[in-house]
Amino acid sequence: MSTPHPEPQVPAGGVRTPVVASRQCPVCLKNSLLGEQTACSARCRRERSRQRVAERQQLRDQEVLALLEHAERLEARAAALRAEACQLLRT
Ligand SMILES: [Zn+2]
Repeated sequence: MSTPHPEPQVPAGGVRTPVVASRQCPVCLKNSLLGEQTACSARCRRERSRQRVAERQQLRDQEVLALLEHAERLEARAAALRAEACQLLRT
């Protein structure tokens, strides 16, 4: 017994038809982008990736600062506990 090929199912969510709209280069805000372009020129693309790196760096800096603050709080708590423990051992 052989079953015929089932109808290909359309995946949930469906395929989005690409919206063709003239977009502007987000870097120089002058030239329009073609197709899948994310920047109008190599120069703008480089500038864009530079901005992205800077953004990521900033986010990481904020994260590191938050972790440092947290570490400082933990350190203060550890110091307090240590002092408490020393006192308990001495008495
Ligand atoms: Zn550009």
